[in-house]
Amino acid sequence: MTNTFGISQSLQKIGIKPENLGSSTGINWLDSVETSFSSFSPADGELIAKVQPANTETYEAVIAQAHLAFEKWRTVPAPQRGEIVREIGNALREVKEDLGKLVSYEMGKSYQEGLGEVQEMIDICDFAVGLSRQLYGLTIHSERPGHRMYEQWHPLGIVGIISAFNFPVAVWSWNAALAWVCGDVCVWKPSEKAPLSAVACQHIVGKIFAQHGMPEGISSLIIGDHQVGELLSHDPRVPLVSATGSTRMGKLVAKAVGERLGRSLLELGGNNAIIITENADLDIAIRGALFGAVGTAGQRCTTTRRLIIQESVYEEVKTRLASAYSKLVIGNPLDERNHVGPLIDRDAVESYLAAIDKVKAEGGKAVVDGGVLGGKGFESGCYVKPAIFEAENHFEIVQHETFAPILYLIKYKTLAEAIALQNGVPQGLSSAIMTTNMREAEAFLSAAGSDCGIANVNIGTSGAEIGGAFGGEKETGGGRESGSDAWKAYMRRQTNTINYSTSLPLAQGIKFDI
Ligand code: NAD
Repeated sequence: MTNTFGISQSLQKIGIKPENLGSSTGINWLDSVETSFSSFSPADGELIAKVQPANTETYEAVIAQAHLAFEKWRTVPAPQRGEIVREIGNALREVKEDLGKLVSYEMGKSYQEGLGEVQEMIDICDFAVGLSRQLYGLTIHSERPGHRMYEQWHPLGIVGIISAFNFPVAVWSWNAALAWVCGDVCVWKPSEKAPLSAVACQHIVGKIFAQHGMPEGISSLIIGDHQVGELLSHDPRVPLVSATGSTRMGKLVAKAVGERLGRSLLELGGNNAIIITENADLDIAIRGALFGAVGTAGQRCTTTRRLIIQESVYEEVKTRLASAYSKLVIGNPLDERNHVGPLIDRDAVESYLAAIDKVKAEGGKAVVDGGVLGGKGFESGCYVKPAIFEAENHFEIVQHETFAPILYLIKYKTLAEAIALQNGVPQGLSSAIMTTNMREAEAFLSAAGSDCGIANVNIGTSGAEIGGAFGGEKETGGGRESGSDAWKAYMRRQTNTINYSTSLPLAQGIKFDI
């Protein structure tokens, strides 16, 4: 895909060497280009790039190229595909600082979290390399004499990847690294709010595929807004669409893909809670809740949005949290002294302010009030104060995911009540309990406990490792990505029965003799 884009001087200003992140394979790092798509940094409001979005014609060209690439790629033995993914992981190691900085600058998360995001990409490449020798199928004993049965896994074809702004590169790599070793090719539509990080990744992997004489189209990039995502969802040539983003978007993608009986893998919104019991180690609980609630300025799908606190420790937790919030330093995400960076854009700031108005109107009481920061260093207008409100679980606003650092405190008496509150939201992504009591922990993890895809004990709701399957239930969409056996979503299963006898017995003992 030949997306042309412009890059302003602003990247060099923050110390990124553009040549490390892109220069060839159809990508031009130019200083000005006549295009219609702009990317601004929420850190300082600077224009970072202008990007050429795909139209129907370029989309068709990309899909045709991906289809041709699949015909070759699926015949490359899986361990050899893994070897190429190993090199992609190594290439990412080389550019970790630059790419991490770009992610931080374009999206607004802290530099440390930007580095963490690139590390996650490296980790999933390593995982995929091992997986490339472990795409196991079962052997099954046949009921018929002289017969053998087994299952094998084949690649699906083109995997469409629609990603959200908040993990602009890692979520793509979770999908792509697995899909590639499985023999699929990927067409990626990144968030229109963070296109430049995606362009850099496409360049990095494109170079590796080219070095191995592999066709273009194993990794493709199409930039654009929801309309380009809709092209993917409706396209029967794309057997799997993996979509990460809001529940609203997921419902539309599920409908479009479902109508053509394709497969969708959905990673949608969360409304994550930590239960803090009377047996919690409060030092751990406060630290876990703090990072969970304000990390990435509350813009993680796994952000802690609700704290469900036993009444006997409620006041202490509230006071200690308020004190911890008073020490938070808000500012430019590239300055490592700052804990909290900006929201992605001014629309996100409006949603944050609307949520605060709403919780107050519903009867919520501010423990730490919110507000927008102005003045020197905050010119982008995207910096807000992390806020805490005492609230009730049934408030309409508490039932919703607001993608901002707003934490709701909810009081409970019994553990059964706490679990019911934790589960009493439409979303089902991540959850945690803080307790040193084994019975409480096991009750939370039992079938009658948390209904989420992720349930933790004595750690917060965010910060998953790639080794486990990642995803959630209910309105979070039910998809699983990354580790464990998530790879199976990227392949089709084939059951093979082989007759090596000299007769033809039928299954279930059916007689059909002439
Ligand atoms: P969003 O839904 O606005 O956009 C996500 C992506 O979907 C973008 O690339 C967008 O262009 C595309 N899109 C929008 N409408 C579409 C449509 N009708 N058809 C096809 N594509 C469409 O989400 P966002 O604001 O970028 O990200 C924040 C949301 O993502 C939050 O809800 C967050 O919880 C969720 N998220 C979930 C996970 C997870 O793993 N569960 C991970 C990251 C983010």
